[in-house]
Amino acid sequence: MMKADILIVGAGISGVAVAYNLAKKGVKNIYVIDKGYFANGATGRCGAGIRQQWGTEINCRLAKKSIEFFENAKKTLDYPGDLEFKQEGYLILAITNEEHEQFKKNVVLQNKLGIPSKQLTKDEALKIVPHLNPNSFLSATFCKTDGHLNPFKMTEAYYLAAKKLGVKFSFYEEVLKIHTKNNKIVEVITSKDTYQTQIVVNTAGGYAKEIGNLAGVDIPVYSENHEILATEPVEKMQGPMVMSFAKNIYCQQVPHGAFLMGRSNPYAEQNHDVESSWQFLDAMSKTVVDILPIVGNLRVVRQWGGSYNMSPDRQPIISDTDQLEGFYMACGFSGHGFMFAPMTGLLLTQMILNEKTDIEMSSLHLGRFKNIDTKLIEKSVV
Ligand SMILES: Cc1cc2nc3c(=O)[nH]c(=O)nc-3n(C[C@H](O)[C@H](O)[C@H](O)COP(=O)(O)OP(=O)(O)OC[C@H]3O[C@@H](n4cnc5c(N)ncnc54)[C@H](O)[C@@H]3O)c2cc1C
Repeated sequence: MMKADILIVGAGISGVAVAYNLAKKGVKNIYVIDKGYFANGATGRCGAGIRQQWGTEINCRLAKKSIEFFENAKKTLDYPGDLEFKQEGYLILAITNEEHEQFKKNVVLQNKLGIPSKQLTKDEALKIVPHLNPNSFLSATFCKTDGHLNPFKMTEAYYLAAKKLGVKFSFYEEVLKIHTKNNKIVEVITSKDTYQTQIVVNTAGGYAKEIGNLAGVDIPVYSENHEILATEPVEKMQGPMVMSFAKNIYCQQVPHGAFLMGRSNPYAEQNHDVESSWQFLDAMSKTVVDILPIVGNLRVVRQWGGSYNMSPDRQPIISDTDQLEGFYMACGFSGHGFMFAPMTGLLLTQMILNEKTDIEMSSLHLGRFKNIDTKLIEKSVV
């Protein structure tokens, strides 16, 4: 039998960020339990793009403050390696008039919040990425401080910093049961031990709903498979991430030269499938050749899938709940939880410690789904 002041389920980027922030505030006796190793879930399978060009105010704020953290993360976390943070922007293509008009509004919102994005004409976009097919888009938006990070190194940086502050990690240990009594948590049963604890943090990614169920907490999220591929590495030819919501693609060249690209499957089912398919390869190739024809000449060396944990409004759930005292969660990131992790860690820590949060939390709270406002649904997603 072990005793934990706080038990965190899942050592993906969210779990390690929460653990680090709690430990930095002086909380002792924190355990992080993962059924695999760190980055075993979506974190180790993601595209690791970092962008601030969002359509809702809350996502813009989360992303902007997170980027400020990433810019200094190596020093702040005292990480010995290179986090491979490249800030060469995101170029988001408007394909339709409707997108062109919507992006105009998005840029106004982003600029109001201090995000240095701008709307570009076709010619201006072609100056930034000359190998774009000029007939494939109308205009674009660009934010030069958006970028890409190595997800394994970033997770390791948080993990090492948290460990140095005394957080205990246990890998290859699965959380199996959460016992409660009178609306309070009593103990957590794992595949290896029993932990007496009154606080559980659910950062189980694609399995957040199941962890909620173990505690009798209903979380309206589901998982679906998103596929991605990597090409052979080539000499540097593209700085920014190129993205289109209408054409359903994101594509960028990472520092070691490979192109990473992904798209969502409109027919994806709600399950824990993380397989890869020839149908994805086929659709992905056709889309990239349409937008970035020259990239079509590269050989694909690897493809894989991973879970997006989807929330009803496509925005994260960073929350406590009146369904169970001491139960906290960060999930439902809907495919963008890597870039928000610094704020996830900070905000959940502030909530657990009953401090004033840096951002007003109502639009991130689980309770919002009782009355969903369709105007606030994030549409800038692939
Ligand atoms: C193909 C793809 C591309 C993506 N691209 C981007 C991107 O460009 N930018 C971006 O910001 N985000 C992106 N995402 C989303 C991002 O990967 C996730 O939102 C983020 O990694 C979620 O991190 P997490 O720590 O919350 O969950 P995860 O990384 O999934 O971690 C959850 C952990 O919980 C553990 N766990 C689960 N159940 C149990 C249990 N019962 N007991 C113990 N441990 C358990 C798992 O082993 C896992 O390690 C992408 C995702 C995919 C799949």
